[in-house]
Amino acid sequence: MKFHGQILKMRTEIGTPIQYYMNLSGDMLNVNLLIGRSLKLSHTGYECVNCGSSQPVYRMGFCKKCFFESPYASETIIRPELSRAHLGEEERNFEVEKKIQLAPHIVYLAYTGDVKVGVTREHQVPTRWIDQGATFALPIAKTENRYEAGMIEMALKNHLPDKTNYRKMLQDDYEDDLDLADFREKIKEYFPEEYQNFFRHDDEIIRLDYPYDTPEKISVFSLDKQPEFEGKLIGIKGQYLNFEGGNQINIRAHEGYTMTLEIF
Ligand SMILES: [Zn+2]
Repeated sequence: MKFHGQILKMRTEIGTPIQYYMNLSGDMLNVNLLIGRSLKLSHTGYECVNCGSSQPVYRMGFCKKCFFESPYASETIIRPELSRAHLGEEERNFEVEKKIQLAPHIVYLAYTGDVKVGVTREHQVPTRWIDQGATFALPIAKTENRYEAGMIEMALKNHLPDKTNYRKMLQDDYEDDLDLADFREKIKEYFPEEYQNFFRHDDEIIRLDYPYDTPEKISVFSLDKQPEFEGKLIGIKGQYLNFEGGNQINIRAHEGYTMTLEIF
């Protein structure tokens, strides 16, 4: 079987284990069903996720022009604390910014090899955690907008990491129940005074189950360095496919690339 199209991040569905769907120009392939099969990935070009241009992807699936102009690629996507929509200030496109920033947000703890703090729009739960490869997650605050969540994250990241270390995430083989509620209690004292009313005490820890066994070797490849790759798929975690022999690819990092996928 052969498929061709633009890569978007894999769609996911919570379950035991989590179900993954490769999204190639809207063709959805259940990737769990491909575990045990040989896949060949061939890079064929680019298609910007915003304008469809065939210019090389600059960052996050966008061509260079869109990365600097699209409201979906603005700095507040990465740094919520820079949000301005709650002040009525436009950055690139006020309608889009209002939709993204003036929505309820969740501040959470997640275990991705380390306990980290993060921020997401409420409707991105649990997708955001799955994309990061978190095995446990716990919401600790719900805010009315992105700015407030960003400010809470800023205060907490002096005490906890806020980035996922992909190597630790892929290598992690933590099996026991990790009590994120302990961490919630510990970091409570660092919660900014003015946002105390957003703090949530009684959410339950969410455990996420991936179709994945810890590989002996972590060696991440990209289609830039390796435009053709063939290997036997043995697992999936976060947005990474894991191939036999210790080769992994981050599908999300290839958004806006086009590829041919062959299944043997
Ligand atoms: Zn573009």
